[in-house]
Amino acid sequence: MFIILIKRKLFVRWMLIGILFSLAMGGLSLAVIEVASKKPRHYFEKRGEIVWELSMPHKAIAITFDDGPSPSFTRQIMDLFSHYGGYATFFVTGSQVEKFPEVLQEIVRRHHEIGNHLYHHRPIPLLSEYHLYLELQKTHQLVQKLTGITIRLFRPINGFYDEKVVRVARSMNYQVIIWSQDSQDWSKKDGKEIAANILKHIRPGQILLFHDQGGNRTNTVDALKIILPELAAQGYHFITVSQMIKLSQHPSTTPVLKNPAGADELKR
Ligand SMILES: [Zn+2]
Repeated sequence: MFIILIKRKLFVRWMLIGILFSLAMGGLSLAVIEVASKKPRHYFEKRGEIVWELSMPHKAIAITFDDGPSPSFTRQIMDLFSHYGGYATFFVTGSQVEKFPEVLQEIVRRHHEIGNHLYHHRPIPLLSEYHLYLELQKTHQLVQKLTGITIRLFRPINGFYDEKVVRVARSMNYQVIIWSQDSQDWSKKDGKEIAANILKHIRPGQILLFHDQGGNRTNTVDALKIILPELAAQGYHFITVSQMIKLSQHPSTTPVLKNPAGADELKR
């Protein structure tokens, strides 16, 4: 009896190990299939479904900030743009907007652009298509309620993209925006290093990625203190992502770059 009990215990243990192993292998093969079937950048770029950078006849770039708003860093960044001229695009998360609605409203009052960076900042591969939709929708409605603005831009978490991302974005009439230069302000790099790297690779039509939340962003602010005056001196204009999309679509019919409210003009 005792021997039978032990054998049965062993049998159950091995059976469990077997089940776990096959589940793991199944998951792994699904992941491999997913990676193997993932379409490359040029597929989405050619179809205009995702934007990394744009062909730009004007000396203009779009500087973007993810993960905010933050009462401290978003405001410091906006003050720098007020000082050096131009406008930024802030891809906000709904959970941060709930905490700092007044900062979101200030972004709009100061004529910067708002984009959607989901509600909980969850990795997209972990979300079903429906949950991705819910994440987008929650932030969309929150921003609409607080500012009256209808967001049209979506920055996926970690720049992850696939057909699911495009499908959900399209169903909400959104444009997916990645970036062409990552400032790497999330790393341990200081402001000088970040600025040097950005300046070295800058060209018209680029979309730059920074963060105004998710830790101490003093390095981001320090980098902008170098980047903004240097690029302004080189004749660059800092425009929103939507402005840049419009300019790239109608380069000859838009001779003057205007801010979203139309109050200021940026000379070419
Ligand atoms: Zn993010």
